[in-house]
Formats: sequence, C-alpha cells, structure tokens
Amino acid sequence: MLTLFSRSSTVVAGIVLAASLGLATMTGIAVAGLNNTAAESDAINTDEVAHATLAAQFALAVDRAFVTGRTLALVEFNSSMSAELYQEQIPRVEALLVDLRRIETEDGGERERVARLVNGWTAMRALLTDPGLTSPENTELIEELRQQYETFNRDAEAMVRSEAADAGLRNQATSDAVDGVKWQLIGTAGLTLALLAGLGFVGNQRMRREIEPMKDQAEFADTLQLTETEEGAHGLLQRRLLRVVPDGAVAILNRNNSANRLEAMTDLSDDPALAERLEAAEPRSCLAIRSARAHDEDAREPGLITCDVCSPCAAFSTCRPLTVGGEVIGSVLVSTPHRADPRQRRMVRDSVAQAAPVLANLRNLAIAQLRASTDALTGLPNKRSVADNLKRMFAQSSRSANPMAVVMLDLDHFKSLNDRFGHPAGDQVLASVGTVMRATMREGDFAGRNGGEEFAVILPDTDAAGGAAVAEKLRKAIADVVVPGVDVEITASLGVAAYPEHALSPERLERLADAALYVAKRLGRNRVEVATGHPEPEDDQVTIHPASNGVASRDLATSS
Ligand code: GH3
Ligand code: MG
Ligand code: MG
Repeated sequence: MLTLFSRSSTVVAGIVLAASLGLATMTGIAVAGLNNTAAESDAINTDEVAHATLAAQFALAVDRAFVTGRTLALVEFNSSMSAELYQEQIPRVEALLVDLRRIETEDGGERERVARLVNGWTAMRALLTDPGLTSPENTELIEELRQQYETFNRDAEAMVRSEAADAGLRNQATSDAVDGVKWQLIGTAGLTLALLAGLGFVGNQRMRREIEPMKDQAEFADTLQLTETEEGAHGLLQRRLLRVVPDGAVAILNRNNSANRLEAMTDLSDDPALAERLEAAEPRSCLAIRSARAHDEDAREPGLITCDVCSPCAAFSTCRPLTVGGEVIGSVLVSTPHRADPRQRRMVRDSVAQAAPVLANLRNLAIAQLRASTDALTGLPNKRSVADNLKRMFAQSSRSANPMAVVMLDLDHFKSLNDRFGHPAGDQVLASVGTVMRATMREGDFAGRNGGEEFAVILPDTDAAGGAAVAEKLRKAIADVVVPGVDVEITASLGVAAYPEHALSPERLERLADAALYVAKRLGRNRVEVATGHPEPEDDQVTIHPASNGVASRDLATSS
C-alpha cells in the first residue's frame, strides 16, 4: 500500500508541478502583455495630455498677453505693465510656441490646429508689438487685436478640446486594451484550466495505468487468500495471468518430489505437446525449478541452454519458479505469441510471487488434511474419512438419483493370524490388503480402513448386484494375497447393501452392509452376503441372501 501511495503521490505531485509551471507561464505571458499595454497606453496618454496641456498653457499665456496689451492700449502707458507684456508674457508665449511647434504628429487635423494657433498668435503678436497700439489713435488696432484674439481663442479652445478628446479616446482605447488584457487573463485562466484538465486527464490516465494494475494485483492477492484448495488457487492464478497476457497460455507445474515428477496442475488439453513432454519430465527438467530463477525463451534467439519442458512452447515464453522460503514448489510457464512488455512481465512476476506462499500453505494444509484422514499402515482413508465420504457420496447419489453400494469387509480370524505370526506380520497383511483394495477399485470408488482389520468400500453408480460383484472380486483378490512368513490363506468376509434398494440413508446403508457382513461371518466366512428387502425406514427387517461361496440363501432378521 505504501508503494501504491507513494507512486500515486509522485504522479499527483508531477501533475501539480506541471500545472503550476503552466499557470506561472501563462500568467507571466498575461502580465507581460498587460505591462506592454500599460506602457504603451501611458506613452499615448502622456503625449495627448501633454499636447492638451501645452495648448491650454499657450492659450492662457496668449490670453494674458492679450489682456495686458489691450489694457496698455486702453489706459495710459504703464511701464511696469509694458515690461510685463514685452519681457515676460510675450517671451513666455514664444517659448510655449517653440514647444507647440515641436509636436510631432501623424494626425493631419492636429497639425492643422497647431498651425492655426501659431498663425493666430503671429497675428496677435504683430498687433501687440505694433507701436500704434499705445497711441491715442489705436481704436482700430484694439478692435483688430480683439478679433484676432477671439479667433485665436476659438482655435486654442478647439485645440485643447481636441487634444483632451484625443486623450479621452486614447483612454478609451487604453481601457479597451486593458479590457483586452483582462480577457487575455481570463483566456489565460481558461487555457490554464484546460491545461490543468488536460494534465489532470493525462495524469489520470497515467495514474490509471499505474494504479489499475496495482488494484488488480491487490484484488488478486485478496482473492487468493479466500481460496481453500490448491486447485482453486491454481485456477485463480491461471485466470489472473491470462488477464495479463490475454493472447498467451498459462501452465502451472507442480514439483512432486516423492514421485520425482513434474505435474501439470492446469488443463493441458490445448497443448498436448506440453502434456506429452511432461509425461517424461522430472522436476529438474524445468530450468526455472532447477535454477530457482525465471527462465525466458525466445524461439528466434535460442539461448545457450534451453529448457526440456518449455523450449518449443511458443514464440516467447517465460517460466517463473514458485519459490517459498528458498524452496521451489513448482513453476508457472507463460507462453505468448509476442514478447511480453515490461508491464506484463512485472505483473506476471508479482502474481507468481504472490501465489507461491499461498500455494505452499494450501499444499501443506492439504498434506496435513490427508495425513489426518489417512491410515498410515495401509495408506487408505481412515474411519473418519470413510464416514465423511459416505455422507458426501450418498448425498451425490440421492441428488442424482443414481444407485450406490456399500461393502463392509472384515478379515477372517485375524486375531489368530496375529497370534501365530506376530503383530508385524499382521501389519504386513493389512498393508497388502490395502494395496489390493486400491488396485481393485475403479476411479471414483472409495476404499477405506474403518479400523483394526475392517475395511469399507463405497461404490457410486452401483446397485446391489454390482456391489456384490465388486465384493466378490475383492474377496478373490484378498484370497490371493501372499505375505512372506505368513503361510495361511488370508480371507475376508464381506457384506453388501445398496441405495435405494435397501436403504434411504447413509447410516442405514452402513448398518445393513455391516449386518450382511455379520451374516457372512455366521455363514462360514470368506464369502459375500447382500442385504435384501425394502428400504422403508420403519422396516428394519432385512433379508440377507448368500451371494457366493455356495452357501444357500436364507432369511435373517437383523435389528439396528
Ligand atoms: P473374525 O473372523 O470373526 O473377524 O475374527 P477376528 O479374529 O478377525 O476378529 P477379532 O475382532 O476377534 O480380532 C481382530 C484382531 O485384529 C484383533 C487385533 O489384534 C487385530 N488387529 C486390529 N488392528 C490391528 C493392526 O493394526 N495390526 C495388527 N497386526 N493387528 C490388528
Ligand atoms: Mg473385526
Ligand atoms: Mg475379523
């Protein structure tokens, strides 16, 4: 989980970092844009306002000069007023005129307005500096000065208004530009969000790519814990690996040390060649098991050493050992038509590594359960297992409405055999009987040791006649048992009962088979007796008929 967390944190951190960089970059662009616009608009504003101000100052200076000049013309000569006009006000207007002339503009209207101001002032200056202005006959000059002034004043007003208007327009333009930048910022924010979403999407995809397999792996590990049998775990591991390599094939091989065999735990009907190779395979035939390391094969580039088991498997194969505590309990062979990518290889590796201890535990558990349910002397299932299997197999038979026979077997005069040849010889006889019974049984039949010298056989899909036939076969096979040092015939008595002919419950079936065995003992031993009669539970009276050994049939009342 820690790995999962830290990996996803790295991914998230990467996204946040990338998003932050994106945001910072886009904001930088926007701010730079704003600064440029602001600088540009400042320059424009400064010019327009300066022009308007200059025009206003010029007009004011001309106005002062006009007032002073007209006053001079109207009143008596005043030296201080004259000095003010000619030494201050007119030079002041001239200085402003120089500035005014410096206005460089591409605007034709503005150029014309400046020209009119200059001309207007030139005309006024001529009148103001006219010597006749202060003479008694200056009425015409004064009137002309007034007219010139009014013209100039209109032009100046127009000029100031025009420049102010321009500045206003420019302000509008500036605010438009700022608006533009605002939109640029909004756009940037949108773009950044889109970028974030994009990054988030990419990150999410990446996270999915990184995390989904981990989730699958975790789910696989969880499900593995729920499996109760090796078979279930093998099936789960195979399904898991086939999800990782859908076009591949998966074989799980079990190392059977006691039999020195390498056995397939998964169905190989799709790969008969591999099944055939495994027929002759030993655990060490598998290179992954022998080396306790993964072994890869590429049909196009054979390695220095090839595996006897997986070598001709497919275009590509990887075989990984199932290792637990340094012990290799088997291997998992994954064959693919294409080379597995690193992600697939990682998941195969992780899945096999996760499955190995679970498989080992399940195998140990199975071994422990087998030991607990197996009789050590004969290798047959013990009494508890007989009882369990009787219930289980009876339930199956009654579900499927198929018959089922039970045979009870007891060695004859075994006490005297023990007494005569010794207990170890008796053990040898018991072990040999166990071997004979296993050899005589068909697949699906069940044989167990009920204890002492008593055995039980359960035969699914078998009626009373079929059960009697199997019992007779057993009787003969046991009669053929030869144990060194035991020079008496080893015989057994057998009783047979069947479902549904005699009993409708496993307990009654067992009891009736026991009763038939008792009859066989009573009738002389080394024989088979079959229970007869009706299966009604209230009917405990069952007729026992001799089935072999030439003993005449007779009715026997038994009670439970
Ligand atoms: P019957 O023909 O009536 O069955 O006579 P029997 O002697 O076989 O029956 P009985 O129940 O009198 O004796 C069973 C003997 O089986 C007694 C016991 O010593 C012996 N026995 C039980 N378990 C073992 C075992 O594990 N090993 C050996 N060697 N003998 C056993
Ligand atoms: Mg007995
Ligand atoms: Mg006996």
